[in-house]
Amino acid sequence: MERAAALVLFSAGQDSSTCLAWALSRYERVETVGFAYGQRHAVELDQRPRVLAALRGVDPKWALRLGADQVIDISTFGALADSALTADRAIEMQANGLPSTFVPGRNLVFLAYAAALAYRRGLGVLVGGMCETDYSGYPDCRRETLDAMERALQLGLDAPLVVETPLMRLTKAETWGLAQALGGDPLVDLIVESTHTCYEGDRTHRHAWGYGCGACPACDLRRLGWEQWRAA
Ligand code: ZN
Repeated sequence: MERAAALVLFSAGQDSSTCLAWALSRYERVETVGFAYGQRHAVELDQRPRVLAALRGVDPKWALRLGADQVIDISTFGALADSALTADRAIEMQANGLPSTFVPGRNLVFLAYAAALAYRRGLGVLVGGMCETDYSGYPDCRRETLDAMERALQLGLDAPLVVETPLMRLTKAETWGLAQALGGDPLVDLIVESTHTCYEGDRTHRHAWGYGCGACPACDLRRLGWEQWRAA
């Protein structure tokens, strides 16, 4: 497996698009993988080729480095992991302190599939947008969880696969700042215009920070991060 080649878990959201730019600035060969797991909204899947095409336009080097994209259908997982993202349920806080958007073990499943693909493609690094800082305490976003998963994958594949999480300690404001540092205004504009974060799948309302309903928890996080970054 090549240490200079990465597979990015890419959903066409703000975080994973920033991670993809991070990987493109650092690795010689970069591929992307996404997962169709029965989301209520296919908006993310619609945006993904648009974000990829736009990223190729930000930097000629990125265009050379960015390779194949693959979307894996794991709708059976979505069916068993009943939650607000995959079923027609309200987004609310549950008695266990986790929002109903929490899909149990989602990142572990994603990483297992991604690792199998990376192994076949000779890609030695997995890159994911998991973040402990601003999120809702999703246990599978913690670095401790990912360290354990990385070790399990290394043992299970008998290969030195690395799991990189460049956003782990960043606030949402700092994630906007990272995009600025990696690709300047063209990358920030691309993320505003083409990436999708809103849980409600709204792409009709355009705000300074991008498209979205403006009211769901994902829109709140994105808007607050934008405002904090712009005010800094
Ligand atoms: Zn929203």
